Amino acid sequence: MTDFSEAPQLIDRFGRTVNYLRISITDRCDFRCVYCMAEQMTFLPRAQILSLEEIYVLARTFAELGVKKIRITGGEPLVRKGALALLQNIGRIDGLDELVMTTNGSQLETMATALQEAGVKRLNISLDTLDADKFKAITRTGELSQVIRGIQAATLAGFKRIKINAVILKDRNHLEVTDLVKFAVDNGIDISFIEEMPLGIVNQHNRSDAYYASELIKTDLARHFILAPSLEKTGGPSNYFNVVGTQTRVGFISPHSENFCSTCNRVRLTVEGRLLLCLGNEHSIDLKQVLRDNPDNTDVLKQVIIDAMLIKPEKHEFNIHEQPVILRYMNMTGG
Ligand code: SAM
Ligand code: SF4
Repeated sequence: MTDFSEAPQLIDRFGRTVNYLRISITDRCDFRCVYCMAEQMTFLPRAQILSLEEIYVLARTFAELGVKKIRITGGEPLVRKGALALLQNIGRIDGLDELVMTTNGSQLETMATALQEAGVKRLNISLDTLDADKFKAITRTGELSQVIRGIQAATLAGFKRIKINAVILKDRNHLEVTDLVKFAVDNGIDISFIEEMPLGIVNQHNRSDAYYASELIKTDLARHFILAPSLEKTGGPSNYFNVVGTQTRVGFISPHSENFCSTCNRVRLTVEGRLLLCLGNEHSIDLKQVLRDNPDNTDVLKQVIIDAMLIKPEKHEFNIHEQPVILRYMNMTGG
């Protein structure tokens, strides 16, 4: 048994220190992005999901085990009732250096300032296109203008950093990569391009046909911008470049064309309370049950989390040319 009172650190079999937790606080969302969800989704019943109090206890417990950064995600985190109060509470946890969030931006017009005041330091906002019709087609239910207003509200609210996340699909939005970088430059924010990951079964496109490698995006961008490799290390999967002459960084998250697992420092908590040790594998532990079985004893929970590190896989195994082996959707996973 590991003695966590002496060395509060989570270390896996491969010597990687886990100090970053991503928490999905809801599987629900006001959008239905084609790469993330099926059009008709069944969401989890309330009894099956963690309460806000349980999420807070888990976040605090991870911080006591050396986690320094927490990202709140979903589903769309801001559609969960009580999300703001939860963020305020997590923002006050001792030992946590950074509270950040990923959002689709739909609620930011009214919530950005309150989020900043709650202690959220950085925001990732998803935006795949600047064309209103394409935006509707990709998100199925979203309004581009609402998200643009949300991004503007966020830039005024004073976050330390804002980054656009764009999933690029061939023949849907791959011709827009230059315009998206221009948008980021004009707004003084960063942008990351993401290769689609084969999570859950999607029915609107063939993932293999829609694959658009990061290298192709770099070639497209090189016609309009000078990209200089950034020396700044974020510890994450993004490979960053500075757009020379601007404040903007462009990142590439390339789960297919590059393997970033050797430096992985993160685990994910689903809204069902399942601790996922790897985005691209099913290895997981049911922390909700441990918490509910031991409501007054977080030492048991800590030991289970420490032991879970022993099953963290070495790397993800994605193959977009086959039917996905990971049947959970991204909104369940907490992207
Ligand atoms: N709803 C929020 C949002 O869209 O930003 C947070 C949750 S969403 C699941 C987090 C991120 O995962 C988004 O940037 C989204 O574009 C990305 N994503 C969803 N499905 C994906 C997939 N199959 N492959 C790659 N990225 C995906
Ligand atoms: Fe919702 Fe985000 Fe998934 Fe789009 S990517 S459906 S916004 S959870």
